[in-house]
Amino acid sequence: MASLKEYQEWVKDAWTKSPKKEISESDELLFLMEEIGEMAEAIRKLKGNKENKDIKADLEKEMGDTLLSLITLSIRYNINLEQAFEKTKRSIIDRYMD
Ligand SMILES: [Mg+2]
Repeated sequence: MASLKEYQEWVKDAWTKSPKKEISESDELLFLMEEIGEMAEAIRKLKGNKENKDIKADLEKEMGDTLLSLITLSIRYNINLEQAFEKTKRSIIDRYMD
């Protein structure tokens, strides 16, 4: 299993080999929102149908797509996702776990 930093490096390299490398930052944000919508659709389909393997596989795919889009945006803005998550984790610990 790779770290978030390793995934960021992999995605950065992968996009240099893709025609999507010229995409605008506003379109990158729209892609993330689109993937979140697809994830929401899969979750809606799972309601009352939690053991449906096809829909669970779809949700897994859409979560992966969403993470890819988030990682892509983090690269655009030079955000260290591990550091970002550590700050979020710290705020959750301070608020709820101390
Ligand atoms: Mg998708």
